Amino acid sequence: MFSDLRPLPLDPLWALQNAHRDDPRPHKLNLGIGIYRDAHGHTPVLNAVQHAERALADAAPSKVYRPLSGNADFTAAMTRLLLGDHTPTLERTLDRAVTVQTVGGTGALRTLADLIASANPEATVWTSNPGYANHHPLMRAAGLLTAEYPWHDDGTGQTDLSPMLGTLDAAQPGDILLVQGCCHNPTGIDLSQESWHALASSCQERGLIPLIDMAYQGLGKGLTEDAQGLRIMTRQLGTVLIAASCSKNMGLYCERTGTATVLVPHPHEKPAVLSVLEGIARRTYSMPPEHGAAIAATLLNTPHPWHAELGTMRDRIRTVRETLGAALRAAHAPHDLLTIEHHQGMFSLLPLTPHQMDTLREHHAIYGTREGRINIAGIPDHAITPLAHALIAVYGR
Ligand code: PMP
Repeated sequence: MFSDLRPLPLDPLWALQNAHRDDPRPHKLNLGIGIYRDAHGHTPVLNAVQHAERALADAAPSKVYRPLSGNADFTAAMTRLLLGDHTPTLERTLDRAVTVQTVGGTGALRTLADLIASANPEATVWTSNPGYANHHPLMRAAGLLTAEYPWHDDGTGQTDLSPMLGTLDAAQPGDILLVQGCCHNPTGIDLSQESWHALASSCQERGLIPLIDMAYQGLGKGLTEDAQGLRIMTRQLGTVLIAASCSKNMGLYCERTGTATVLVPHPHEKPAVLSVLEGIARRTYSMPPEHGAAIAATLLNTPHPWHAELGTMRDRIRTVRETLGAALRAAHAPHDLLTIEHHQGMFSLLPLTPHQMDTLREHHAIYGTREGRINIAGIPDHAITPLAHALIAVYGR
């Protein structure tokens, strides 16, 4: 049966991980994979998570199967985290929302892709270029077509909307606009508030349905600020899809915790959407895992300790960015390298060619993706100045 099967090429990100693992140089620096690290290079379990885990262990609730849609405390709290806790129109928006628990943000994207394929198999999913490496494979695995819109810096660290909207002229009504809600992976370039408004109007005029990928809420400007674009969309449009992840903002990476939310124009459409989402879960893995969702529900419903720790992570990312920017300036770096100062969230896309990224790895033991992405949140304090010097050495002045 498997004799003709050929191994797939190793995912470039995992290949990079392996190369870093096998590199004997003691000063090697892994800026490839997107995980948060503290000033010493560690990714500890949040205190709020440890408390929640102890409480859950003490309470020793049963391990019986949970519902197909997951932990209801978790999905309700996530819906509010995404759509807004205190807005005057929230209750009306919540009436239109269906949320199910998913296996991480990836599971949310795939579940929503399957939902789209059930409702409109002809839909093309438009995603950014450059963009998240897994968007195309995830959407195509559900049988959907994909296309790309450009995602460029307008010179101030925000997305230039004109080429994006120009490309979307080719989109058909019913197509899906997959857009990252904040802290864009891999560029760190986000939409301004005005651009979100313009994009929402454009979706309305063209009949496009936004699918907002929210993988980094709280790691850019703040939990509320990072959801502003998403909320502009949900206020203005009848149908919005949201894929959310708790991997980064709660440090629950391996617990695979996320949600898929579907906002429908009329509450009477909710039962059908929920039943299709549950059907997708049933035929894929049946019930989602409880542990991460139960932890996340505790964090969301007693938020102060979590907010404090999330604030620490966010502040550190910002400080690393500023310090790296200052080190680049002090060493008279060219302007192009300084764009990292404007970016948001864990990542920045450097203006380096794949060959220059190879040189960075080979000569300086600094591992970023060949496309030029580095994980700003992964730079230990002691490595900031050497990194600035290495970047200038490779890029030139
Ligand atoms: N979307 C984006 C933009 C991401 O960067 C990631 C994670 N790297 C995901 C989705 C998937 O998140 P998760 O790890 O929770 O599956």
